[in-house]
Amino acid sequence: MAFLNHSKVPVHRFDALIIGAGGAGLKAALQLANADLKVAVISKVFPTRSHTVAAQGGVNAALANVNDDNWHWHMFDTVKGSDYLGDQDAIEYMCRAAPQVVYELEHSGVPFSRLKNGKIYQRKFGGQSQNFGGGQAARTCAAADRTGHAILQTLYQQNLRKQTHFFTEYFAVDLFRNKSGQVLGALAFCIETGERIIIDARTTLLATGGVGQLFKTCTNALINTGDGIAMAMRAGIPAQDMEFFQFHPTGIAGKGMLISEAVRGEGGILINSEGERFMERYAPSAKDLASRDVVSRAVATEIQEGRGCGENKDHVWLNLDNVDPETVKKRLPGIRDLCLTFLGIDPAEEAIPVTPTAHYTMGGIPSNRHGQVIMPTQNHAESIVLGLYAAGECACVSVHGANRLGGNSLLDILVFGRAAANSMIEYLSENPYHKTIDAELIDQAIARLDRWDKPNNNVNRSINANDQEEPVYQNDNVALLRDELRKIMEDHCSVFRNESVLQEGIDKLEQLFKRINTVALHDHSKIFNTARVEALELENLAECAMATIVSALHRHESRGAHTRMDYPDRDDKNYLKHSLYFSSTDQPEYKAVKTQPITVDTFPPKERVY
Ligand SMILES: Cc1cc2nc3c(=O)[nH]c(=O)nc-3n(C[C@H](O)[C@H](O)[C@H](O)COP(=O)(O)OP(=O)(O)OC[C@H]3O[C@@H](n4cnc5c(N)ncnc54)[C@H](O)[C@@H]3O)c2cc1C
Repeated sequence: MAFLNHSKVPVHRFDALIIGAGGAGLKAALQLANADLKVAVISKVFPTRSHTVAAQGGVNAALANVNDDNWHWHMFDTVKGSDYLGDQDAIEYMCRAAPQVVYELEHSGVPFSRLKNGKIYQRKFGGQSQNFGGGQAARTCAAADRTGHAILQTLYQQNLRKQTHFFTEYFAVDLFRNKSGQVLGALAFCIETGERIIIDARTTLLATGGVGQLFKTCTNALINTGDGIAMAMRAGIPAQDMEFFQFHPTGIAGKGMLISEAVRGEGGILINSEGERFMERYAPSAKDLASRDVVSRAVATEIQEGRGCGENKDHVWLNLDNVDPETVKKRLPGIRDLCLTFLGIDPAEEAIPVTPTAHYTMGGIPSNRHGQVIMPTQNHAESIVLGLYAAGECACVSVHGANRLGGNSLLDILVFGRAAANSMIEYLSENPYHKTIDAELIDQAIARLDRWDKPNNNVNRSINANDQEEPVYQNDNVALLRDELRKIMEDHCSVFRNESVLQEGIDKLEQLFKRINTVALHDHSKIFNTARVEALELENLAECAMATIVSALHRHESRGAHTRMDYPDRDDKNYLKHSLYFSSTDQPEYKAVKTQPITVDTFPPKERVY
């Protein structure tokens, strides 16, 4: 350990720093440790509490254990599911690599459910087809309905065996990106003691997960606050495709816990107040197993048009009474537990009340299929951010485009966690020496922490740049502002959007930014351990919220999860492109979709019906 004279903050040196201990971070860490590199993993929670642990349904791979299948059909479904916004080179790469990563997991110890013949069990999931849009495929490999739990425990144990160094319950604050654009590590602090550390690393991987906490009701863990996406934005890197946020059709009404698509995969159906299986009208062929954006819009429409169920007509029923109760117990034990605990019902006997609930961040840090972070350049070419990599839900590769298929995210984190690690290994072999971190970068990151740690009572925050009085919000605090932010996003950037509602949301967010600054400078309550974390998370959430809503305002079309009531059609002529939001501007830029796969023909955009 060394100290930098001017800051007195201890410095730890590693070949690779991985920020995030979910599936993406741990897969990458294991790959790096297997190459005998010195790896540090930082996680703000105990690694096996990362959100990956909550994944229920499973991971997609065309193993063909139940029905005929191959990776090319999987690729077609993913491109169509993405509403043609996914990059087809990355999608081909992911679908081809899928069987291998699943077998790697199996050999590392993941206890996948089995068929009678001993092969890995595979269930049906939404948007899966055989033969390019034909019959339903069964492509999702599962460990009952606790797949993420099994994967995360296995990867953690394997990392312990390889002596990966864990900074558990440490919070990463900001990246060090020097003037030439290279990333050299990050500033972090121990949540319990507040002790700050500098991690000086030759390569850094962001694997911080999604930003589900943007919305009031969501299926995500409290820790999913988009820290990595915000860190990248503060380092000058744009956020890509943030307007595409997935609403899962079946969150428990009013509570938000996820009821996995596995329930419909095992035979569950959606019913409105008239007892009608309404998905037959919206998706005559795939019905309840249509793509998530399609099913969420259908549920929201049924509720809006007065066919919702219950006293307030604010949900629909998910009915399992045609599924054998033994199947429910064996294949869906976790979901049965959820229903018994939070609703007091056995789903084999009573229907589950469900509504669309914020679930998955399709957008994120722009990266390529090698896990490298990429920056647009003036002439529409791309350059690589040296030393920085991104994988998992915080990254936008983009394999999910405008809408992710169920079971493809666990696949994404494994495939691109591994790909990023392989790129890092190559880079490390070519760049054997640590570079000096600019003192200025360290000071800046420390100043951001100090802002909350040492409230500055001398700053006059009630006068703005135009010499006008700002309203003073006496009762503001971090928790209250976080609640308001999540309500703004729920009210202004949900399943159905339009110009005026989005613009109003932006105005409210701008006010909220000012209030966050005020609280940062003047909150006299002691900011320590978890309170300090919540304050920094609030800032990260606010930056991600702005990226999401501004990108949504400027995309004048409906595609995948982004539905504009005022622009109901998809517009390939003007918007078959990725949006890029830089925090320094209020208008997104755009870049082309990679429509050219690696070895096969392009799937050109078509009307998307299920
Ligand atoms: C309820 C639920 C069920 C799901 N089911 C499925 C499914 O069946 N199949 C499927 O394919 N996908 C599913 N998904 C999606 C999938 O689980 C996630 O997209 C995926 O697990 C994300 O993994 P990750 O490694 O990117 O991030 P996460 O698992 O979210 O991990 C993020 C890590 O980053 C760390 N971190 C974040 N910020 C900081 C910071 N500032 N400092 C230090 N550490 C930080 C956290 O501590 C954590 O370790 C589900 C998601 C949810 C919410």
